[in-house]
Amino acid sequence: MASDLELSAMRQAITLSALGVGTTSPNPPVGCVILDQHGAVVGAGFHRRKGEPHAEAHALKAAGDAARGGTAVVTLEPCNHVGVTPACRQELINAGVSRVVIAVMDPTSRGEGGASMLAAAGVEVETDVLRDEALTVLEPWLTATVRHRPYLTWALSTDGEHQSAAEKRFLLDLRATADLVVAGKTLDEGIPGGHASAHFELPGDADIGGSVLQWLSAAYEGGVRSTLVVGYEHAAALRPHLHAVDEFAVAVPRTDPSQALEVVHSDLIPIGLRLVGVVARADALTFRMRRLRA
Ligand SMILES: [Zn+2]
Repeated sequence: MASDLELSAMRQAITLSALGVGTTSPNPPVGCVILDQHGAVVGAGFHRRKGEPHAEAHALKAAGDAARGGTAVVTLEPCNHVGVTPACRQELINAGVSRVVIAVMDPTSRGEGGASMLAAAGVEVETDVLRDEALTVLEPWLTATVRHRPYLTWALSTDGEHQSAAEKRFLLDLRATADLVVAGKTLDEGIPGGHASAHFELPGDADIGGSVLQWLSAAYEGGVRSTLVVGYEHAAALRPHLHAVDEFAVAVPRTDPSQALEVVHSDLIPIGLRLVGVVARADALTFRMRRLRA
């Protein structure tokens, strides 16, 4: 059982992991907190972009010798492969950590990942701790990794000229959560210059109409793990593939109660989606819905 201190550390790690959203792809946004043997926080970190240290490496560096005999609390199973950086499970073993608490297992490890290697080295491992909370940040990456195509968000917004100030602000916030933004015929990085260019490549064009799924697969090969499509220009291409839309984002203006069904009509809440966020603003309401997963 994870202790209250570990649960609190996991929520800190999840919050930190979100600081990597929009720049880590093709890697996942991960956060890590190190507790010393008395349960005090002695290090924390998050992964920012591919080619840079992983969350565990940042946190262990900050903790130094205080990590020995302590606990690493990490939002995703520590990696087991030596790539651009050393394997995190080995760094945790070398640092003398005695326990590792994990929220989400890496679906690509197939039981031969960091967790089993840590356990084989005598480290106590606990998994699925606050998994649902960690998925608020990791779900897009996880979905993309399992499906081999980017997580797809469709922002149901009015077109550029007619957007309200609230809608413009909403879309600006949404862009920063996606690797790739398709708005009409333009194609942009969600955070301009955010990714490591050696490991990330934008698709050649914004023409998703030919075959949406093929276009998404090609984007995935280029390192894209999340895509935001804005507005209705690509509606004809998306409608036959609504099952491939993982998330819908909507902004509606504040209005009189007599207009209730006109601003939030039942078509806005399709069957098979769950609400993951509702934000009331001074002049508008914004909400996001994610597809239900088995
Ligand atoms: Zn790692």
